[in-house]
Amino acid sequence: MRYVSTRGGAKPQPFTGILLEGLAPDGGLFLPEEFPKLAPADLSAMRRMSYAELAFAILSKFADDIPADDLERLVAATYTEKLFGSEDITPVRKLEPDLYLLGLSNGPSLAFKDLALQLLGSLFEYVLAKRGERLNVLGATSGDTGSSAEYALRGKKNIRVFMLSPYGRMSAFQAAQMYSLPDANIFNIAVRGVFDECQDVVKAISGDVAFKAKHRIGAVNSINWARVAAQLVYYFKACFAVGGEVSFAVPSGNFGNVYAGHVARQMGLPIRKLIVATNENNVLDEFFRIGRYRVRKAAEVKATSSPSMDISKSSNFERYAYDLVGRDPFRLKSLWTELDANGVFALAGTEIFRRVADTGFVSGSSTHADRLATIRRVWKDYGVMIDPHTADGIKVGLEHRERGVALVCMETAQPAKFAETIREALGRDPERPAGFEDLEKLPQRVEVVDADAAAVKRHIERHAA
Ligand SMILES: *Cc1c(COP(=O)(O)O)cnc(C)c1O
Repeated sequence: MRYVSTRGGAKPQPFTGILLEGLAPDGGLFLPEEFPKLAPADLSAMRRMSYAELAFAILSKFADDIPADDLERLVAATYTEKLFGSEDITPVRKLEPDLYLLGLSNGPSLAFKDLALQLLGSLFEYVLAKRGERLNVLGATSGDTGSSAEYALRGKKNIRVFMLSPYGRMSAFQAAQMYSLPDANIFNIAVRGVFDECQDVVKAISGDVAFKAKHRIGAVNSINWARVAAQLVYYFKACFAVGGEVSFAVPSGNFGNVYAGHVARQMGLPIRKLIVATNENNVLDEFFRIGRYRVRKAAEVKATSSPSMDISKSSNFERYAYDLVGRDPFRLKSLWTELDANGVFALAGTEIFRRVADTGFVSGSSTHADRLATIRRVWKDYGVMIDPHTADGIKVGLEHRERGVALVCMETAQPAKFAETIREALGRDPERPAGFEDLEKLPQRVEVVDADAAAVKRHIERHAA
């Protein structure tokens, strides 16, 4: 399988050629030249597979330049009961007839990103070892997503992680999740400033081409194709567990999770609807409702109680738009030229926007009050405690529910990560998963620096791989 850029300006490459890359050189996103199509016989063979077997069956189609034995070993070592808490890896819980909760948050950082990032960490280590290369991963987190990257890359050979976080602005639990990691290749850098300043420092360093090349600076952002590929697996697993045609409700921000659902549907999985749920930062909901895609200014982005969905634009959306324009890189490029110039493009009433219906996408959004009400309702009706991101998904999913069609709502984080909102909704503390009881009491490793790219660069120079 070869990978091309949505904007048509990159030489086709195999999977390992794009694995460590971010944007394609022409500014587009990499994706496969075409999606593999599964016959009914393929699907019925997959139905009986364990999670790791299924992951191998799917990923071997996308990473066909990695020797099968190696890929099988990496996948089998990733999707284990030890790491994900159960043999099912992504257990499906029935709330009532035709309503299910898909547990994606049982990995080491208690959020769905673990499902892709745990594999990504192993793939990075494997490819770097083969090439005799090293990598320094630089990132910024507002609290929730940095821990998934650190748990994925901890202890990996030839990789070091430099994760910037806003000093004193995360919950004690979030800070402890990252700062308590004892691994020598993890460097937590607490920046005296807010999250945007952390991100500005990362941008400044990544923009220094010479520094970036010298220290092999990379990222594990949500546009990485391997993350999308790994996320396909639980759509298959859930469809097989529930049976028949299924709709999915997906709490969405950067459009990585639900885009994997789109790919699975294109491959032939019987998905009826892909229900995109956003919070108050409703860039995606606006597009799917009225055909207008408008990037928000930084000051417009609201800090909400589902912070992992607080986005100004949706970084994977371009891949979906590529399919909408009939995989024509020139049309795609003209849309993004318009977007870069005006911050918006509008497709309402066009042929392109009419194709949305064929792809099964619908959407909705939630407010803080909606999330509190949904957390209460799910607790009262089913005795299940959910986090605010999951509540976004359930609230919007129920609005699009169809009689006789199974609805699978994705649980993307554990309530323990968002104690404040749980207390507001339920008047009690969330339960802590086993092993996290005394997290805040563990010794912490963190360096506090000013919001200054030069200071962070010095830190990287001292500790780089
Ligand atoms: C990242 C994240 C999301 C959003 O997923 P996208 O792939 O960015 O759309 C939703 N919920 C949680 C808990 C997350 O960490």
